[in-house]
Amino acid sequence: MRVAIIGAGPSGLACALQLQRLGIKPVVFERFHRVGHPVERADILLHLAWLPVKDQLDYLARKCGLYLHPMAPLRTIIMYSPSRRMVIRSRRLGYLVHRGRSPLSIENQLAAGLSSPVVFDTIADPRDLAREFDRVVVATGDSIPARQLGLWEEYDSVVIKGALVLGQFDPHTFHMFWDTRYANHGYGYLAPLDRGRASIHLCVGGIKPEEMDDYWELFLEAEKLHYHIIETHEQQFHCGRVNRRQVGNILLIGNSGGFVCNLLGLGLFPGMISGVLAARAIAGNDDYERLVKPLTRRINELNELRSKLDKLDNHGLDRLVGILGMLGIKHLIYHSGLDIIPKIYAILSGFKN
Ligand SMILES: Cc1cc2nc3c(=O)[nH]c(=O)nc-3n(C[C@H](O)[C@H](O)[C@H](O)COP(=O)(O)OP(=O)(O)OC[C@H]3O[C@@H](n4cnc5c(N)ncnc54)[C@H](O)[C@@H]3O)c2cc1C
Repeated sequence: MRVAIIGAGPSGLACALQLQRLGIKPVVFERFHRVGHPVERADILLHLAWLPVKDQLDYLARKCGLYLHPMAPLRTIIMYSPSRRMVIRSRRLGYLVHRGRSPLSIENQLAAGLSSPVVFDTIADPRDLAREFDRVVVATGDSIPARQLGLWEEYDSVVIKGALVLGQFDPHTFHMFWDTRYANHGYGYLAPLDRGRASIHLCVGGIKPEEMDDYWELFLEAEKLHYHIIETHEQQFHCGRVNRRQVGNILLIGNSGGFVCNLLGLGLFPGMISGVLAARAIAGNDDYERLVKPLTRRINELNELRSKLDKLDNHGLDRLVGILGMLGIKHLIYHSGLDIIPKIYAILSGFKN
């Protein structure tokens, strides 16, 4: 069987590796001249997000044969709302992982196991390849193919500005900032790459790209993030729903298939899992839509929580952070292993704005 994969990001590469394992050698097309996003950054794998999976790297290794190394385990999350600060410490929070072009990035760790050919410097079109290949897997990380196929339902767009900064950081601590003055219904975060470097991001919904610099300055000032900035980058991220993930012989995975939650923009784990499931569906002639159902159900739950959070003003954010910081609730969330997403949803439903 001839299979093409468009995009050598985490989802496309996870799919390619799984196909290889199942005896199919796909051809991967990548628009850049090498694997890895040009901008280096730290991403998090947050265990809480994809329960009942308790440890995402362990799951990828055991269930998918994908052996990935983190930069560091995530041991502390510090959450800041306008007038509150909450610290969560646990051994089971998740991982910090490398993204970009270094050999240690998730993309390059995956690519190291690849024996299938990668055609670099090529912008591929799913509809052209669908005539040439038996199956085409779309893993371009954007909504363009789903739009072209008439499968995309947009409900928001977020402008993201990021920076690579120098300073002194704890490599196990992730900082999360909530304040509607600079983030609207988005948020800011600082994720360490190592002891001396970190990536800072601000995600703001409902603004135009040209407005971002004002929000960014306010963010750095309000949170006193006075670090030495090495480089900055900006992008617009479209949030939406993909109403079908397979059309004829074209399958959509990763961000392109809507496998990213709007709650915190987490898409790494579901993206790789969707790639593995697409490979299994192709090799086993199985129903891809059926295989991804548990994943899409969870994404819907997280997105519903996001829509509740969108309604909070700064007073509401302070209240929420206060409640999440209460000892019993904190224990329930981060130590008990119970799925607390529905409980947070219930707490937010009780808020009056
Ligand atoms: C700033 C930022 C921070 C994030 N932080 C986190 C986080 O902390 N945790 C988390 O879980 N998720 C995070 N995410 C989301 C996560 O990065 C994505 O969900 C994940 O990268 C999706 O992988 P993908 O393979 O689907 O797409 P991508 O990683 O975007 O890869 C797509 C690949 O396709 C290539 N490509 C695109 N178009 C074409 C074409 N036409 N032809 C050929 N090649 C093409 C691209 O060059 C790229 O290599 C973050 C996203 C952003 C933007």
